[in-house]
Amino acid sequence: MRRFGGNNMELLDGCHEGKHTPRLSEVKCPQCGRWVEVFVLMDGPAGRTGTLYTSEKCECGFVFPEGSFESEYERDL
Ligand SMILES: [Zn+2]
Repeated sequence: MRRFGGNNMELLDGCHEGKHTPRLSEVKCPQCGRWVEVFVLMDGPAGRTGTLYTSEKCECGFVFPEGSFESEYERDL
């Protein structure tokens, strides 16, 4: 009987645990002052950390564009 060395690792390699899990944050709309929930990238590529993961629109119509820095807005700290 022939036995093969443990080479079945690839099946166990599908780890989809997100390293880039965004953090939920609140920023203040510069137009109307409402607090708007946004998702912020925590450990993206260089220059992307702390930027909005998705575009969010305030009720007044102001858009927080994807990729803009959370630090550009007033935050709820
Ligand atoms: Zn607004």
